Amino acid sequence: MSAEVLVVGSGASGVNAAFPLVEAGHRVTLVDFGNTDRTYAPLIPHQPFTEVRQGDARQHRYFLGDQFEGVPFGKIRVGAQLTPPRMHISADTARWMPLDSNTFTPTESLAVGGLAAGWGAGAFPFDAHELEGLPFTHADLAPHYDTVAERVGVSGDRDDLLPFLGDSQAMQPPLDIDSNAEAVLSRYQRKREKLNAAGFFMGKARLAVCSRPHRGRDGHAYRDMEFWADTDRSVYRPQWTLEELKRFPNFRYLDRRFVLSFSERDGGGVSLLARHADTGADERHDAHALVLAAGTLGTARIVLRSLGRYGERVPLVCNPYTYVPMVNLGMLGKAPRDRRHSLTQLEVVYHPKDGVGMHGQLYSYRSLLMFKLLKEAPLPLREGVQVMQLLMPLVNILGIHHEDSPGPGKSVALHRGADGAPDRLEVRYEPAAEEERAQSDGERALLRHFLGLGCVPLKRIRPGHGSSIHYAGTFPMREGGGPLTVDGDCRLHGTRNVYLADGSVFPKLPSKGLTFTMMANADRVGTRLARRLQGGHV
Ligand SMILES: Cc1cc2nc3c(=O)[nH]c(=O)nc-3n(C[C@H](O)[C@H](O)[C@H](O)COP(=O)(O)OP(=O)(O)OC[C@H]3O[C@@H](n4cnc5c(N)ncnc54)[C@H](O)[C@@H]3O)c2cc1C
Repeated sequence: MSAEVLVVGSGASGVNAAFPLVEAGHRVTLVDFGNTDRTYAPLIPHQPFTEVRQGDARQHRYFLGDQFEGVPFGKIRVGAQLTPPRMHISADTARWMPLDSNTFTPTESLAVGGLAAGWGAGAFPFDAHELEGLPFTHADLAPHYDTVAERVGVSGDRDDLLPFLGDSQAMQPPLDIDSNAEAVLSRYQRKREKLNAAGFFMGKARLAVCSRPHRGRDGHAYRDMEFWADTDRSVYRPQWTLEELKRFPNFRYLDRRFVLSFSERDGGGVSLLARHADTGADERHDAHALVLAAGTLGTARIVLRSLGRYGERVPLVCNPYTYVPMVNLGMLGKAPRDRRHSLTQLEVVYHPKDGVGMHGQLYSYRSLLMFKLLKEAPLPLREGVQVMQLLMPLVNILGIHHEDSPGPGKSVALHRGADGAPDRLEVRYEPAAEEERAQSDGERALLRHFLGLGCVPLKRIRPGHGSSIHYAGTFPMREGGGPLTVDGDCRLHGTRNVYLADGSVFPKLPSKGLTFTMMANADRVGTRLARRLQGGHV
């Protein structure tokens, strides 16, 4: 099959850009590196966490890893949430996509499904204000939010967060929250008026998870195994969309390819240069148009290399992230329910009148196992185990995301690899001191509200820049924006038929995960490209 469109990457953005093109009947080839886990996934029983812990003799293999790779020795690492069955997600990146930085530690992916093969599934539409400055309006994106919500399966409530997260016809009922979250939410409801007046709003998490059967996937089964397995397939992974795409005769999936660069041919059309991951042979693939969705940093490498812009700095944004273990006094004397999930339970939007806004995700702690917490506790091991056993049902973790805008200290540049070695991406991420001060002050104010809800913060942990795993802003979307930007269709400036569909195109980030919005925009990019193809404009 000769392709009309080549899409690079099978992550959240790639598959959602490909879908409308394939549905419209266009011949699409998706080129991907495509790592998968074949070691651990087949070992994990379709059972709840407690039964697995009590009954599976092989659990040490996937909980700790055959090489103990699930035990985070030393300092807390970025990506520490990636358990052994998820570690294939970042495999091979150091070799194929080397990166230099002493200020930024990103997690990148060469996996089928990309980073969303292990994401937390928090699905947050941006509101009209957050999309301001882009060459399209919220109303233009709204139908794509709905399409994607239906495609990926989104669950949520119409509660105090509705004004911030918007509504969708496709929204399924929310997942049930656990006992820990119930205790916090009921205290919030008692103090709601006062908290809302201070800009603090709480509700059930909006998640890309099916709470009932949907598109061949099961509704969530409350096995509390989300960090380890996808047994009920209720949590959205781009692999589910890839499976649907593979059923179309006009779609082809080409894995084990590492894309190096593109060039536009004089007579029209685009050529892609890719290296076979196993043989090392270079290949050329041709099509009328190209959609790059290799992840913000992956796409930056391909674009800068293709345009020969070595050494040139382009902007980068990434949500600053802090997490806070807390003790929930509302759980004192209560036995936690076993039936639960390990994703975000409650979401908090904090917009104080005279400070910076932020979003918080509240998790309870169990299925990531005690040894990770124990490592952070300032106690000798034996006493630590005893204290933690008592404390664990009371522990919740608040993840705080801050907004981010471009600044002089935040950029990436590509440098040519020496003697045939891969090119190296250099990242500088040094926010201004006042940005960090405002974030820290805001966190303190937010935690005072949590104290009022019976949650006692133990310590604030900043795992380092890059740890939110929300990367964007390298080729910002700007009508008439000039070199190294994209237009309203996300077409790369100076090219005829090269489009970017991942986080690269968002100039700034509000204080929430970008992935749901990125998927909606990818659907918009694919839909608009399909129309251009139909109109013969490509
Ligand atoms: C643990 C974790 C939790 C997260 N939680 C959330 C959350 O709750 N909410 C949220 O909004 N976001 C979350 N994120 C972030 C989210 O996963 C990412 O924003 C999103 O998955 C990025 O998708 P992408 O398609 O742009 O890129 P990626 O996921 O990076 O995918 C890139 C794809 O391109 C392929 N590729 C890359 N380079 C090449 C190349 N040169 N040649 C061939 N193929 C290539 C890879 O194989 C991969 O398929 C989380 C991430 C992690 C890791």
